[in-house]
Amino acid sequence: MSAPQHPIQLQGISLDSIAQEFGTPVYVYDGEKIASQIKSLQTAFATVPLKIKYATKALSNIAILKLVKKAGEGVDAVSIEEIKICMLAGFAASEIMYTPSGVNFREVQQAVELGVMVNLDSLPLMEEFGSVYGNTKPACIRINPHIMAGGNAKISTGHIQSKFGISIQQLPDILEVVKKYQLKIVGLHIHTGSDILDAEIFLRGGNVLFDAALNFPDLKFLDFGGGFKVAYKAGDPSTDIAEVGTKVSAAFNDFCEKYGQKLELWIEPGKFLVSESGYLIVESNVVKKTPQITFVGVDSGLNHLIRPMMYDAFHDVYNLSNPEGELQPYHVVGYICETDTLAKDRLLAKVSKGDLLVFKNAGAYGISMSSNYNSRLRPAEVLVWEGKAQLIRKREEFDDLIRNQVEIDI
Ligand code: PLP
Repeated sequence: MSAPQHPIQLQGISLDSIAQEFGTPVYVYDGEKIASQIKSLQTAFATVPLKIKYATKALSNIAILKLVKKAGEGVDAVSIEEIKICMLAGFAASEIMYTPSGVNFREVQQAVELGVMVNLDSLPLMEEFGSVYGNTKPACIRINPHIMAGGNAKISTGHIQSKFGISIQQLPDILEVVKKYQLKIVGLHIHTGSDILDAEIFLRGGNVLFDAALNFPDLKFLDFGGGFKVAYKAGDPSTDIAEVGTKVSAAFNDFCEKYGQKLELWIEPGKFLVSESGYLIVESNVVKKTPQITFVGVDSGLNHLIRPMMYDAFHDVYNLSNPEGELQPYHVVGYICETDTLAKDRLLAKVSKGDLLVFKNAGAYGISMSSNYNSRLRPAEVLVWEGKAQLIRKREEFDDLIRNQVEIDI
């Protein structure tokens, strides 16, 4: 059996040539893919005043954020650091939504001082916010709608046992705090999880928002969160964005009539915008046969791409150096000193030492969840945009690793 060819080209530039130029391991992003994903959301929700608030956490390189800005959209940030990165990328405070989870109030104050709106995630935070700011700063409230959704337990965030948001069952308490401090609530938010396939889940979330919203007279927007699923391999289902757009927009427009005002509809996609745009190219260090398994050891690991070990995520992998080779079964593993299987039981075109392999769908939660575990250096990042491959993050060097260590006499 011989392998189908996978000549992966981004805007006419081959991934192998990018690896030759920038070395491995390297993350490569296709800017056009990000722009087209944004466009497809804008088209799907064309009948409502849509605002996309890209979930910065998925991939926070400034160049990527600039692409989102260029498309006329905003961002969701979950930390003060993400807010600052978004500002460096050119976003005005008014284009940033801050959705913290259990942070110190000092951080909330820093965000407010920068002019960024806060998404209040607990009753104690509402109290603290109210006692300091009263009705002087508009805010949003994150509701936990008690909907079980998402690809697996680690990425389900809207169910009754999740730490996120304020339970919809606590709506009377929410309203009491709003009244006590005359809070100016301009938005309600939910985010039920990641990898949500079904339009019905977004509609169910919407119904929770619509019912709650009737209690808040000053609303400007309802935020449906992110969580659209992308395909990880051929034949894998993905969220039907056109269906979600049509159904959610219709329900939203009906609600706005009832509410008596045209609100904005916000969504916060992370994975949907950047997952498929990203590729992690690595080099095979060793091909090691055991009595049962042939391992390919590569110059990367869970320190660069933690999703397979953390979420059992599937990343398609291809041999770029020998695309026509005979298919053979491999486990592709990292160089970390614990089990870090990146791809298990895969048929790959015959791999030899020195071959370049590429992991697909590596744009979201790839480099942004990377670490220096085992004192390894983080990869470089390259963006292909307008037919040019450009470095957007330098590969780390040894000095980066020890920069903040303070030497003492022992
Ligand atoms: N919004 C919030 C509040 C989130 O926590 C997340 C992801 O964790 C997202 C949006 C983006 O989710 P996804 O990447 O699945 O679209």
